[in-house]
Amino acid sequence: MARTLREPFQKILDTILDLLEKGTIPWRKPWGAVSPANFVTKRPYSGINEIVLWSAGFSSPWWMTGRQLEKLGGRLKPDAFPHLIVGAFLGTPRHSPGPIAPEPRLYLRPYLVFNLDQVEGVKAPPVEEKAPLPGAAAILRAYRHHPRYAVASGAHYQPSTDTIGMPPMRCFDSSAEYYVTLFHELGHSTAHPSRLDREWKNRTHAYAREELTAELCAAFLMAAAGLEFPEATTNQAAYLQHWRRNLLDDPMALFEAARAAQKASNFILMRSGKQARKPSSRMKAISTKNGRSALDHAAMPSAEPEKRSA
Ligand SMILES: [Zn+2]
Repeated sequence: MARTLREPFQKILDTILDLLEKGTIPWRKPWGAVSPANFVTKRPYSGINEIVLWSAGFSSPWWMTGRQLEKLGGRLKPDAFPHLIVGAFLGTPRHSPGPIAPEPRLYLRPYLVFNLDQVEGVKAPPVEEKAPLPGAAAILRAYRHHPRYAVASGAHYQPSTDTIGMPPMRCFDSSAEYYVTLFHELGHSTAHPSRLDREWKNRTHAYAREELTAELCAAFLMAAAGLEFPEATTNQAAYLQHWRRNLLDDPMALFEAARAAQKASNFILMRSGKQARKPSSRMKAISTKNGRSALDHAAMPSAEPEKRSA
C-alpha cells in the first residue's frame, strides 16, 4: 500500500509514476535531449531533478526559478507552468529525545523552475560547440578502482569476489543493450566496501533500492557516454509495471536511489575525487578463456550484435 509523502516528494513521485503508466521509462534519457542546467549558475541539475527535467521534453537545456527570471528582466509566456524539483540533502535532526545520536534523514527544499522555452525577454545564450561525448570505452577507462571483469553466462555482480560477470557482446541484441547491462553492474560494484560501501541487503526494501540505484546509475552513464538507449524490448511492459509497483511500495526509494546513483556514477567517472589517470595494470591483466582481455572486450563497440542471453 502506498504511503503518502510530503507534498513536493509526492508530486515528483506522481510525475514519475504517470510516465511509467504511460509506457515511458523516465530515467532513460530521450535521444537528443540535452542535460538540464540552471541558466544563471550554469550548474547542471543532478539526481532525480535531472531525470524530472530531461523527461519534461523541452528543447532548451536552461532552467530558472521565478526570482531568477525576474532579476533577468524576463516574463513568463501566458501558458507557462512551473516544474517542481527538490533540493534534497542528508541531515541529522538537531534535537533528539534520547542519549542515542539520531539517524541522519533526508530533508528537502522544493523549488519551482521554468524552462527557457517558457519565458520571454531573456536572451538564449549562444550555442556552444559541443564537446564530443566520451563513449563507452572512456567511461570504462575512467573507472579506476573497478572490480574484476569476467565472462559469464549471465550478467551479474558478485560482491564476495568483487567481480562483474558479463556474457560476450555477441549475446546481446545490440551494443547499446550490452552497455546498459554492463553499466548496471558497474553501478552495483560501487556498493563494495572498498568503494562507496553502500548497504544493499540488510534493510527492508534495501534490495529493491539497490536495483533502482544500479538502473539509474546505468542511465546516468549512458547519458555521459552519449549512447542511445536500446529500442524498447518485448519485456518493456513488465519492466514498467515492476518499477511502478516498487515505487508504490517504497516511495522514498526513488529519491534515495537517485542520490545514490548520482554518487555512484560520479565515482565511476571520477568526478567526485581525483581525475581519472591511466588505466590500472589490473585492467590489462585480466584475461578470459579465449585469451582476450575481458575489459578490452567490454570496451569494444559491437561489430556483431547477436541475440541476448539473459
Ligand atoms: Zn541489478
